[in-house]
Amino acid sequence: MTADGLQLIVMGPPGSGKGTQSVALATDIGAMHISTGDLFRYHERSATSLGDQIQDFMKKGDLVPDDITIAMLKDKIESLPDSMGYILDGFPRTLNQAISFDKMLTAGNSKLDLVICIDVPERQLENRLLRRIVCAECSLVYGSHVGGEYDEYCKNCGGKLQKRVDDSDKEVIGHRLKKYMDLSLPIIDHYQAHGILHRIDGTGPVIEVTTAIKRVLASTFKGTLSFNY
Ligand code: ADP
Ligand code: AMP
Repeated sequence: MTADGLQLIVMGPPGSGKGTQSVALATDIGAMHISTGDLFRYHERSATSLGDQIQDFMKKGDLVPDDITIAMLKDKIESLPDSMGYILDGFPRTLNQAISFDKMLTAGNSKLDLVICIDVPERQLENRLLRRIVCAECSLVYGSHVGGEYDEYCKNCGGKLQKRVDDSDKEVIGHRLKKYMDLSLPIIDHYQAHGILHRIDGTGPVIEVTTAIKRVLASTFKGTLSFNY
């Protein structure tokens, strides 16, 4: 079933499954998956001037400055057709980003419909990130087998599969996880205060997490969205 104009956020620590779940949901409800990380990696790969500005932040696992991130996201959202819904993955990462985004939506007579926060304990995240493989072309996410072996090409687009640079160093992974732990609570409180936050246990198998998110969507948007489980 499609979801004309629904504006959703999927948040959670690095490795919690935001990308995996957002792709599945976007396909199911006919919304655009917008990952700020994927957009930044596209700029890096394409060696745009934005790519030059952000590459050091990305490599070290630091956050890209808010003004750059917000401007890039605004451009992307403004490029969507009017009635197109979207799922934001990896944005906002700071309270300032969340507040700026609220203002942007209010200025366009719009508002967020729902924020899903995927919870996974920190001890499981490092392992997931060390095993993550992504397609260099379409950004589809895979998990590698124990021992690190993985297919060479993407089943979706035939692009080359590879590890992300920022997933290859345990210190960088630790830094990214710490950033999330330090900065996410005020964002969670912000959306909780707006009554639009739903927390989901992200520790089960992918399909179980997807079903849990769909249940929340189906009960929040009764009459608009229904799913076959
Ligand atoms: P994020 O976008 O939050 O950083 P990803 O969706 O890229 O997370 O997932 C990180 C890694 O964890 C990937 O290798 C993915 O295959 C794996 N993964 C995602 N969801 C689950 C899950 N529920 N159980 C086990 N592994 C998962
Ligand atoms: P992700 O693909 O979501 O894991 O993001 C990868 C990297 O992109 C992060 O470590 C940051 O360097 C950068 N990034 C992605 N989203 C944001 C954001 N909302 N704010 C600042 N930096 C971001």
